[in-house]
Amino acid sequence: FQAEDGIRDSVASRGLGDVYKRQGESTNFALSTFTVMLPSSPNSDQRTARQFETRRSSRARMKLVKRLKHKGIRNPAVLDAIEAVPRHLFLDPEQFDNAYVDTALPIGHAQTISQPFVVALMSEMVLTAAKNNRRVLEIGTGCGYQTAILSHLFDKVYSVERILSLSQRAEKNLALLCINNATLQHSDGTDGWPGHETFDAIIVTAASDNLPQPLLRLIKPDTCLIAPIGVSGYQQLTTLRNQNGLISSETTEAVRFVPLLSGTCD
Ligand code: SAH
Repeated sequence: FQAEDGIRDSVASRGLGDVYKRQGESTNFALSTFTVMLPSSPNSDQRTARQFETRRSSRARMKLVKRLKHKGIRNPAVLDAIEAVPRHLFLDPEQFDNAYVDTALPIGHAQTISQPFVVALMSEMVLTAAKNNRRVLEIGTGCGYQTAILSHLFDKVYSVERILSLSQRAEKNLALLCINNATLQHSDGTDGWPGHETFDAIIVTAASDNLPQPLLRLIKPDTCLIAPIGVSGYQQLTTLRNQNGLISSETTEAVRFVPLLSGTCD
């Protein structure tokens, strides 16, 4: 990041990567006016999440919101959510400086955190299509960024991830942000969310050519499902609805997601 308007406070003059370490490491950084203590126990997470919101990161996020508006995102609730959720907290330190660039980034395990524009667009589509904002199911938690955005838009978020370590990482990220209306599960999302059948909206954040039957069965008359549908490397964001027992689909933007895979792993 470049500091703007000549304002360079002690935090803004460093790369975000300089002031962060992975959660769990206890390190002191003496900045010019205060010392930042990184979390050494889960109890200190709450305090730290606020402390690590620097002038630099909040400004970068405001710029990102401007860019998303320019790219056509209009829903104020979505834009507010993007502005509220510190995306850098979801990334490894070496990626902090790219956190507010509008691009997907690697999160390990050959997976990515979605591009902010795509997160915003899918959120906007889901809000437009859903009749109610009570319960949303997300397939593909990843590191939890879209989950965090959805937690601002729905009363309750359910999110499923097939890779255990990503699910655990997302759980920590959401706890750090004090998000308590999201429930995560480590399981194969192609089975939906066993035990729950009714959602106002379903958002699939991994690509498939043909959505699995259990997911299609979750599309009740008042449910919408948004998913990237298509072959590897090229999909279209698609809204599916149930119209008198028949599933209708509407496609919009071309996107590129990692594949929806069956089974689970560590
Ligand atoms: N929602 C994430 C996107 C993560 S990328 C974000 O906000 O950035 C897609 C994720 O879907 C990957 O973490 C991948 O492991 C997961 N995934 C793929 N197939 C899955 C399945 N069958 N069930 C659950 N998660 C799956």
